[in-house]
Amino acid sequence: MTDPNCIFCKVLAHEIPAEFLWEDEDGTAAFMDINPWTRGHALVIPRNHSTDLLEISDEDLAASAKGAKRLAQMQKDRLGCDGVNLLNSCGAAGWQTVFHFHIHSIPRYVGDPLQLPTRPQPATPEELASVAAELRG
Ligand code: 5GP
Ligand code: ZN
Repeated sequence: MTDPNCIFCKVLAHEIPAEFLWEDEDGTAAFMDINPWTRGHALVIPRNHSTDLLEISDEDLAASAKGAKRLAQMQKDRLGCDGVNLLNSCGAAGWQTVFHFHIHSIPRYVGDPLQLPTRPQPATPEELASVAAELRG
């Protein structure tokens, strides 16, 4: 359930230092992101190694989601943030850079400098129907 080459498995094993918020609760750990997008940006990860959203067990995913909610509550209650973004990147094309499943909990503050990295464009009803049909299979 660990990968010797995985940075986050090394964090869990205390081979790499990290600022933990909790360890070993409900099969998860939470610690501060080393490159925070905003003050208080933290990550929740399952103790079991799995690379991403498509590989993680439902049980570890549920525990991680619960952990993300707990993190968001801590960020609101103790840091006074005004909102939170939860982020999971899946696959290199989805901006994932560490291949041990994790959820970012990013506190948001009114007036903070973060911006959406993309400008969504409206789709036509035909385009939506076509892709939905493909997804439904
Ligand atoms: P991803 O890009 O995969 O969605 O997120 C990986 C996150 O892990 C990044 O935000 C990055 O700053 C963080 N990170 C990478 N290496 C380390 C590390 O050694 N320690 C900690 N605490 N965070 C890390
Ligand atoms: Zn790992």
